[in-house]
Amino acid sequence: MTEIVQDNYVITLDYTLIVDDEVLESTADGEPIEFIQGIGQIIPGLEQALYGLKVGEKKTVVIQPEDAYGDYDPESLEVARKEEFSEEIPLDIGTFLDLRDDEGEVLSAQITVADEDTVTLDFNHPLAGKVLTFEVTVSGLRPASEEEQQHGHVH
Ligand code: ZN
Repeated sequence: MTEIVQDNYVITLDYTLIVDDEVLESTADGEPIEFIQGIGQIIPGLEQALYGLKVGEKKTVVIQPEDAYGDYDPESLEVARKEEFSEEIPLDIGTFLDLRDDEGEVLSAQITVADEDTVTLDFNHPLAGKVLTFEVTVSGLRPASEEEQQHGHVH
């Protein structure tokens, strides 16, 4: 019997992620990823598209924002005064900052505008609003052990 991608299997996946006709990430430059299928370890649109694939099988998957990192929310921008930040932090456009909100939760933001006194912080995920194209190849498949299933990650 040929095994296929199904829930509670450890999947080894090679992928290339293409956004706006540009390769953003590729496991060809490193190691494939490993995850347990069916428990939301990867974005929903990609997980859904893998069911039924066999080892060695390739697939191109196009994922809309709602099944990936969500829509871009123009409300998720904040202007902050540069003097609120420690001087060691470089406040350049493109810099990612981890900030703590009032509840102590860490939020990641990217500086998208910087002028003399202020910076604009964008709290959207960098891939929010983007259509993602994944070229995937399943390079390995095995049932997750009971311990892996309990822990919710691959050992
Ligand atoms: Zn563990």
